[in-house]
Amino acid sequence: LDPVSYIRDRIRTVPDWPLAGVQFRDITPLLQDPKTFRVLVDLFVHRYMDQQIDVVAGVDARGFILGSVIAYELNRGFVPVRKKGKLPFTTVAEEYELEYGSATVELHSDAIHAGQRVLLIDDLVATGGTMIAAAKLIRKLGGEVIEAAAIVDLPELGGSQLVQAQGIPLFTVCDFA
Ligand code: 5GP
Repeated sequence: LDPVSYIRDRIRTVPDWPLAGVQFRDITPLLQDPKTFRVLVDLFVHRYMDQQIDVVAGVDARGFILGSVIAYELNRGFVPVRKKGKLPFTTVAEEYELEYGSATVELHSDAIHAGQRVLLIDDLVATGGTMIAAAKLIRKLGGEVIEAAAIVDLPELGGSQLVQAQGIPLFTVCDFA
């Protein structure tokens, strides 16, 4: 069985959520089914197990679910990239533009040390704004983003191109037009 189609076939599309006209790609069925969850996690673990990675960073909130399991399996630590105002210690912050307004992501200032090789995980790349902001935080602390990885790319939104244009290698399992 091809793991990519196995995973892609189990992503649920929810029309008009959270807004009319949006086709939300819901990854919760992948997590809920034990076999699918394992196929998904194993795909990432096999990709990265022979690479030199010091730490895994996951993006709030679905990137935590995937990123922490990948970190555990790679026997590496996990650091959370959080939405503004959630982290208690000193932070670095990066603001980015949304369709309407802006958002800010933060990372604890001691989460990554200069020269560390970081694997960055989220569930999905849409406009790319979140992944790019998260990568900038890692770079602010002197870390090197070895790869940004997600389950889904929405290529029509152009985000994956923008991520790669920032010099961030990107891996996604599947895409939806
Ligand atoms: P971007 O910053 O690339 O425009 O949006 C990606 C971020 O928004 C990710 O953190 C992702 O979790 C969330 N997101 C946006 N659209 C979707 C979607 O259709 N499905 C899921 N699962 N997440 C989405």
